[in-house]
Amino acid sequence: MSLIVGIDLGTTNSLVAVVEAGIPYVMADADGRRLTPSVVHFAADGSTLVGEPARRVRALYPKSTFYSVKRFMGRRAREISASEREVDYPLEGDGAETIRLLGPQRAFSPEEISAEVLRKLKADAEASMGQPVERAVITVPAYFNDGQRQATLRAGEMAGWKVERIINEPTAAALAYGLDRLREKSKIAVYDLGGGTFDLSILELNEGIFQVLSTNGNTRLGGDDFDAAIVGHLAGEILARHGLDVLADPALRARLREAAEAAKIRLSNEMEAEILLPFLTPSVSYQRVLTRAELENLTLAVVQRTRAHCLRALADAKLEPSALDQVVLVGGQTRMPLVRQMVGEWFCCVEFEATSGSIRLGTEFHRPEGPMLNTSQNPDEAVALGAAIQGAILSGGISNMLLLDITPLSLGLETFGGLMNVIIPRNSTIPLKAGEVFTTAVDHQKAMMIHVLQGERERAKDNWSLGKFTIDFASAAKGVARVGVQYEIDANGVLHVLARDLQTMKETVVQLKSAVDVADADVQRMVEESVEHAWEDLSARRWIEASLRAKETISATRQGLADCGAELGEDQRAGIESALQQIESMLAQAEQSTGGVGDPKLLKEAHTVLDQATQPLADLMMDKAAEAMLSKRGLI
Ligand code: AMP
Repeated sequence: MSLIVGIDLGTTNSLVAVVEAGIPYVMADADGRRLTPSVVHFAADGSTLVGEPARRVRALYPKSTFYSVKRFMGRRAREISASEREVDYPLEGDGAETIRLLGPQRAFSPEEISAEVLRKLKADAEASMGQPVERAVITVPAYFNDGQRQATLRAGEMAGWKVERIINEPTAAALAYGLDRLREKSKIAVYDLGGGTFDLSILELNEGIFQVLSTNGNTRLGGDDFDAAIVGHLAGEILARHGLDVLADPALRARLREAAEAAKIRLSNEMEAEILLPFLTPSVSYQRVLTRAELENLTLAVVQRTRAHCLRALADAKLEPSALDQVVLVGGQTRMPLVRQMVGEWFCCVEFEATSGSIRLGTEFHRPEGPMLNTSQNPDEAVALGAAIQGAILSGGISNMLLLDITPLSLGLETFGGLMNVIIPRNSTIPLKAGEVFTTAVDHQKAMMIHVLQGERERAKDNWSLGKFTIDFASAAKGVARVGVQYEIDANGVLHVLARDLQTMKETVVQLKSAVDVADADVQRMVEESVEHAWEDLSARRWIEASLRAKETISATRQGLADCGAELGEDQRAGIESALQQIESMLAQAEQSTGGVGDPKLLKEAHTVLDQATQPLADLMMDKAAEAMLSKRGLI
């Protein structure tokens, strides 16, 4: 089998690694650099700079130098927030269009820019190995959705790679961590805070088997947010001091951002960093010393945003922090002392009551049985090394390791009433297939629309729409036509959908080509909101289910009244009519309200009133049905 390399396609930097003689290492380029900045510059003369040369000219040519492109991969224009749009280069695209980056000569898709970086990595790998290298494992944030994964696959293919597998970054880091621990049984968390994304994955390692238990994260939270917090503060100061709005000028903004990031990095080792920006204009120069304490004040809130994801991943894995053996830190931003301190506190040194067996150390309580904070991995390289290990597993170079990864988001489809019906719950081990049989909800239905959804919300419209397709069948009474829907998630985490008409056994196979073309909402927003709106969602589901039941009763009652209402007493008919009116007006009112949802409790009460009022009608109908049956059998 030919060689399979591992690629970490990062927001800030990209790397390519390989395993030789069982040992993974990161390959260097011709200049000896192992990190390739994920930056591409298009010069006015038509030439292209990639990597370090492009990074160097970024502040000089802010409009034609593309960086942090990963945050735009596989996303529609309307999903990109105002703060995410704050890049120095212009963006193009509205609403449902995929976002494009406007270069000097033409617009580019984010994949095209990433492909430039991947092409350079390919050339570097070939130069380093002295042979053609074609096959690669590429990593993505665990929290990338289907569309973002497919955009990454496309970027790889555009650059001439044969992409053998897409794997999750924290899982790759765990492989790198676990390579020397193949005899161990342990549970670890990988806290991965890179330039643009954050992931927290919990894994169980058992003699070479790496089973991911849960994952959580945010594809829009990373080192860039730390830089933005510093830039915002300094820009305010420059405006107050000199009346100069640095943020309004892309070239000045790029200089300030570069200085802010450099100061942030320096403050990981020092207590003070000088920021010097001479000649912002001929008459304005800016200088100040930023202290570590100031940096920590400015960015504490960003670090704290990662905590909720840690807690959710622990809850999904049904683990207490103390059940973990190690918390492995990866991603360049975890070099920041504040990040290490906070993560240490959350996982390892959580304050707790002395009565529960803690020992007192200085002013803090430390839990003797808590996990270790593991900073032994090179935070920049662990992901690429892990990708190379997965490459070696696939090519047969390593045979005593097995990776069992999971899908981060639930997959399902829209059912009657606009509800999300989950087919594959989040955190399911991949690859896997799962299916369900659906039937028609109304009489003479000739087609069924399959609306494929990804996300955690109860209502279809609040989830990420991956695609829609239709199955046609001969019309029949409701509940007769049956459609089997099967979802398959491959080892790359990419979804394939198959639907089969169970009467004719006709199959429709849908390869959701790209969520880019069909995505409706932003997945991260959606996942965060699923927690925020849990109660609201639950009550919406209750309302929808109660209203579907109520509508069935209303239609059966109306039919019953038409068939044998004349045989009821005046009072009985009036009672039924009034109960019908009450429940129908409740449904109509809810439909007109914002959100289309009413109070499910009140609806259930109205339903009970209707059930009671229709009791004589139901008895009458039962009697008639029994009479009809007996007479059919010739018994009366
Ligand atoms: P990655 O995506 O893993 O390459 O991480 C890149 C991010 O880590 C960028 O936001 C960098 O500014 C940040 N970073 C790199 N080195 C350091 C450091 N020593 N201290 C703080 N942040 C750092």
